[in-house]
Amino acid sequence: MGELFRQLLTPEITMVLILMVVCVVSVYLLSIVYVIRDSARRGAEPRAVWALISVVPIVGLLAYVILRPSSYLIDREEQDLDIALREHQLSHYGICPKCGSPIDRDFVVCPMCNTQVRNVCPTCHRPLNADWKVCPYCRTHIQ
Ligand SMILES: [Zn+2]
Ligand SMILES: [Zn+2]
Repeated sequence: MGELFRQLLTPEITMVLILMVVCVVSVYLLSIVYVIRDSARRGAEPRAVWALISVVPIVGLLAYVILRPSSYLIDREEQDLDIALREHQLSHYGICPKCGSPIDRDFVVCPMCNTQVRNVCPTCHRPLNADWKVCPYCRTHIQ
């Protein structure tokens, strides 16, 4: 048996076997590196647990790919920033109390539903906030 084994294990076959083992081990190590780097980019928490799971060959990588967050952390931060920016613009310009459309600072009526959203100065005809007592443009007193 040992003799047969030695005959089968020619230097060429040994070489091929070593190469295969090296390939499998590098793919395995790369999969661990991939999970650690990808979990950092996606903000998959807790990262230490994902790193541990990725040590399990094949199953760990599969589990991570299935369960990881679907978007990158930087994309989510950008989305949050986008929403915050839009909210800021809305608070700056306001929205229509009736239909919720965005209203610019100098709109007098909502362009979508024709609801009056601001008063108009009787003297200079500029838009005024509903609670202003004096027109800030021409000093006309508003009743
Ligand atoms: Zn409206
Ligand atoms: Zn005025």
